[in-house]
Formats: sequence, structure tokens, C-alpha cells
Amino acid sequence: MKGLNLIDENIIQAQLEVSSRSGTEQVREIITKARELKGLESAEVATLLQCNDPTVLQEMFHAAREVKESIYGNRLVLFSPLYISNLCQNDCQYCAFRVRNKNIRRKALTQEEIAEEVRHLVRTGHKRILLVAGEATPEEGLDYILNAIETIYATREGKGEIRRVNTEIAPLTVEEFRRLKDSKIGTYVLFQETYHLGTYKKMHLSGPKADYYWRLGAMGRALEGGIDDVGIGALFGLYDFRFEVLALLQHARHLEKVYGIGPHTISVPRLEPADGSEIAANPPCPVSDGDFKKIVAILRLAVPYTGIIMSTRETAKIRAETFALGVSQISAGSRTNPGGYSEGDRSGAQFQLGDHRSLDEVIFDIVRMGYVPSFCTGCYRLGRTGEDFMDLAKPGLIKQFCLPNAILTFKEYLEDYATRETHAAGFSLIEKSLAEIPSAKRRDETENRLIQIEQGERDLYF
Ligand code: SAM
Ligand code: SF4
Repeated sequence: MKGLNLIDENIIQAQLEVSSRSGTEQVREIITKARELKGLESAEVATLLQCNDPTVLQEMFHAAREVKESIYGNRLVLFSPLYISNLCQNDCQYCAFRVRNKNIRRKALTQEEIAEEVRHLVRTGHKRILLVAGEATPEEGLDYILNAIETIYATREGKGEIRRVNTEIAPLTVEEFRRLKDSKIGTYVLFQETYHLGTYKKMHLSGPKADYYWRLGAMGRALEGGIDDVGIGALFGLYDFRFEVLALLQHARHLEKVYGIGPHTISVPRLEPADGSEIAANPPCPVSDGDFKKIVAILRLAVPYTGIIMSTRETAKIRAETFALGVSQISAGSRTNPGGYSEGDRSGAQFQLGDHRSLDEVIFDIVRMGYVPSFCTGCYRLGRTGEDFMDLAKPGLIKQFCLPNAILTFKEYLEDYATRETHAAGFSLIEKSLAEIPSAKRRDETENRLIQIEQGERDLYF
């Protein structure tokens, strides 16, 4: 296994120590450099993380908005988690699914129940799913997950279907990752929770997840198994957020160096209350809303071409504030209990959500803010993943492909699922956004495809 000691805590602590003495001039120089869209070195990121001057922070936020706008434009990709099982053999102190929590109803959905959940999601307009599961016993096995993925792709409802399944499941061996890849997943997502070894040990008392290094090596094994699209993350609230951000960057750089592919996304979950968890109710290192926004802005400046995912753990207000600072993907209309979409109740949930709105309500709101909701699955289906995606992203081509695809998939949503209010607001936004497609040729092609969608065609993309 390559690079098991890929996190160097001493380097991180030293960078935080040195950067605590930096002045505002240094911070300003780094912000200016970040505007060139070439990313930042770890030591520079450490300096930004130590900045608490309100005026300079506003300058940092302003730069993050510029970077976000110039690379991603005004599109926001939407997805929904699908929890298929809350059976779990691990004992993560912050999670309601942990093995020793006897309060919740345990459930692994049958294939028919999974199909029913998918039909519910498709009826609301979703096209992208993040399949989530607890780490079950070996008898449950990977086959259960693989069958679930097959079920999801095979389920159709009305004019829609799920076109991309990402997965957030326990770490696998290289051979198992190869099988997961063959089942046509999009991104493999896994959070290290905390990169700080001592804290990790305290938080993960038993089960396979207690092995910090098995988890840390997961992305390397996934890439060795042929999955070229991976998403990393840390659970903010367990340890000092400054340390976690620097460690996330060490992790990203390691993957780039060893495998030639950096993470496609970084997630920034913040600890939320969870059934029966003391730690979740009283996070050891709580992250304030202000620091949370700082985390998003700094990641946007540090790794400008890596997507940032914001989940419904956060409230509508915080979500809205972070969209402009750098978020590129959001979940919407989520439930975190298996069967939560079709059964309508929330018992057996993993943690409490901050945003309970329906997909249409979220869409109406983001349209009002000027963002084009995107259900695009184009890159993944055309094989533009891994290095190919990075090549596409780097010269600023996102606006050439992603914006037109966002407009086309949003048009489908408006035709098939939107409420009257959202339809009207969305229609005007599409008109406005067409003008932002840089090439006239691509604009014409997009307009032609919009007409085809009105005539009943579906699933058109560049
Ligand atoms: N069981 C697998 C695992 O642990 O990676 C996959 C999914 S787990 C259900 C998804 C993620 O939920 C965890 O990685 C953790 O970061 C997050 N999570 C768990 N408890 C949480 C809480 N109380 N608040 C916010 N996020 C939480
Ligand atoms: Fe299980 Fe994942 Fe929850 Fe840990 S975070 S208890 S592994 S579901």
C-alpha cells in the first residue's frame, strides 16, 4: 500500500505555529496570488486559516466569490442521498447508526424498497444519487451494495430515471473497489472524519473503522481499483478545523502526486446532533458559522478546481451564504434514514438536518439567488472523469460544457417537475443564462436542444 503515512501532523502543527505570527500584509499577498486561480501552498493556506481580522476576512471572501464565479459560473449541481441501510458494526461516537446505539430502528432496505425510494426521488426531479450505508457485517457483503446500484439504475418512473449513482460506503479492498467500479458508480466518497490520529482513536472505539490507516488508505485503493473519481472530507467539530483543512490538502496533494488524480470533490460536513450521542450534542471543537464560511472560502482559494459539497446538515441560511464562497454541489430534499422518502417518517435517522425543504423549494430559492440548478451527468457518461475532467476544468471550459448542460437539465426539470412558481422563475433564468455561454456556436446548439426538450426529448448533453 502506497503512502500510509501520508498525513504529517508535525508539519501541520509547525505550519500553524509559524503562520500564527503572520501579519495582514502577508494575508493580503496570498489573497492576491489566489486570484490567479493556480491554488495555494499549504503554508499559505495556514496563514489564511489564522486570519481573524474582519476587514481582511471580507477581502478573502470577496476573492473566493471571484474565483468561484470565474471557474464555475452560476451553476449548482443538485443531488440527493439515498440511505439504503443503517446496520453498522462500528462504534463512531458521533453517529446514531453506531453499533452500541440501541435506540434506533435498524433496517436494510430490500431491493424492492430501494426501487420504491428511487421512484419517490425521481418523481421529485432528482437525477443524481449518493448511495449511503452503514458498515454492515461481512455476510451482508458488497453484493448487497452492488445489487442496490443495479436496482437504482434499472428503476424508471414517468419520464425520469437516476443517471448517476455516487457511493459513500465503508472502505473496500482494491479487488472490491474494482467490482464497485464495474457497477458504474460515479464518485466514491469517503470522509476521514478527523485526520488527527489521537482524536480519531477516541472517536472510533471498535469495528473495522477503528483502524485509522485502513480508512486513510481507502482512496489510494479506490484509485488502484480503477475508480478515477473520488471525494474526500472531514467531519468538522471533532478537532481543530485549521488542522483538518491542512490535512485535507495534504491528502489531496498525496493523491495527485502518487496517482496523478486529485480528489474531484471535498465535503465539509459539520457535526450535527444525533440520536443518543453526547459528542454530537457537544462537539469537542465546535466550528462557528463564521469559521465555517472561512473554511469554504479558503478551500475555494486553495484548490480552485476541486468541487465543494454542501449538505442539508446546514440551514438554508448558511447554505446560501456558502454557495457564493465556493460551493459547487448541494444535496436537497434529503432524508438520512433508510426508507425515509417513501415512508415519510424520520425515525432511524443518522443525524438531524438543518434544511428540511423539498427539492422544488430549494430550487425556487437558488433560482431567486441567480444560480442555475444542474442535474448534469454528462462528464461521467462521456468518460470525462479523473484526469480528463481536470483537463476540462483547468482551462476554464466548465462554462462551455457545464453551463449548457445545467441549462438543459434544468429545462427538463421545469418541464416535468416544477411547481408553477418555480417554472416561471426558472424560465427567466434560462433566458438570462443563455447569454452567459461564451461561444455563440454552443449557445445556438443549446437553444436548439431546449426546443427539442420542449418537444419531448430527454437526456441531452454535451
Ligand atoms: N458508514 C460509512 C462511513 O462511515 O463512512 C458511510 C456513510 S456515514 C453514514 C456518512 C458520514 O456521515 C460519515 O462519514 C460522517 O462524517 C457523517 N456523520 C456521522 N454522524 C454525523 C453527525 N452526527 N453529524 C454530521 N455528520 C455525521
Ligand atoms: Fe457506521 Fe458510518 Fe455511522 Fe460510523 S459514521 S457508525 S461507520 S454509519
